Amino acid sequence: MKQSYTPLSLRTISVFLFGAAFGATIGLNAFSFSEIKSLAAVSEWNSKQDNTATTTLKILEVKDAIVPIAVYHSVRPHIEGESAEQEMFDVTPELLREHIKYLKQEGFTTISFETLGKYFDGETVLPPKPVILSFDDSWRNQYAYAFPLLKEYGVTGTFYVFTNSLDHGNHLSWNETREMQKAGMEIGSHTKFHPYLDDITDPMELKKEIADSKTILEESIGVPITSFAYPFGEHGTSSIEEVKRAGYKTARSLRKGTVQSKEDRYTLRAFIVTDHLEDFKRMLEKKEN
Ligand SMILES: [Zn+2]
Repeated sequence: MKQSYTPLSLRTISVFLFGAAFGATIGLNAFSFSEIKSLAAVSEWNSKQDNTATTTLKILEVKDAIVPIAVYHSVRPHIEGESAEQEMFDVTPELLREHIKYLKQEGFTTISFETLGKYFDGETVLPPKPVILSFDDSWRNQYAYAFPLLKEYGVTGTFYVFTNSLDHGNHLSWNETREMQKAGMEIGSHTKFHPYLDDITDPMELKKEIADSKTILEESIGVPITSFAYPFGEHGTSSIEEVKRAGYKTARSLRKGTVQSKEDRYTLRAFIVTDHLEDFKRMLEKKEN
C-alpha cells in the first residue's frame, strides 16, 4: 500500500536539519526512493604486466560499488516538547546503537570516504558490504553520544564539520574534533559558514568556503582532508569544479541512492537517517539507485 504525502524539496528538509527556524510540514515522500537500474558492484583484481619494468603491477579495476552512505545530524535523547519533525530527524543514542548492531549482524563494514576515494583511484579494494556513516554540521552531541558508540563497536564514522562553528555554542570544539580524528574517525569539510553554495556568484567566495575550509582543517588537525559534503546538498557546476580544484577526492551530495560510481565521486549519493529503523534497513538492502 502506498501512502501519499505532501511533496517537499530537499532544500527545505536540509534547512530544517540545519536548524533554521521555519514551520514547514515535513513530507515523508522525500524518503521514497526511485528505482533506477544500475550496475551491481564488485571489486576485483586485474593483473597487468608492465613491459618496461621487471615487476608486475597490480592495477585494480574500478567498478560501480554499492556503498550506502547514511547521513546523521543530531544524535541525542529526545527532548520533552520537541516537534515531531525534530523527533524524526534526531537519532537517539539507543537507535544509533541499534543501527550499529544491525550493521555488524548483517556483515557490513564501515569505511571512510578516504577509502572510497582510494577505491576509485584503483589503490584499494572495498570490504564486503561497505557502508559509510556520516555525521553533519559539527554538533557537539555527536561527540557526546555518537563517538562513544562508534568506539565501543570498533566502527568508523565521518564527521563533516563547518569550520566557523567549531568552538562555538552547541558545536564541537577543535580539541574534540582532533580527538575524534586521532581515535580513527574521519573529518571532512562542510565549508566554513555552511552557506547555500548555489547562491554564491563570486568565485573567490566559493573558493573560501570550499578550498580554505580544507586548508584550515588540515592546519588545525594535521592530516589531509580529502572529503567534502555540500551544505544542504547543493552541488552546482561551479561548486563541483571548485571541489575538484581544491584537491578533494570525494564529495557527498544528498542525491538518493546506494550505488556509487567513479564518475560521480564528486556527487556521491546518500540517505538521510530518520528515527525509523525500518527505513535504515531498507536503504542498506537497496542494490540500485
Ligand atoms: Zn549541513
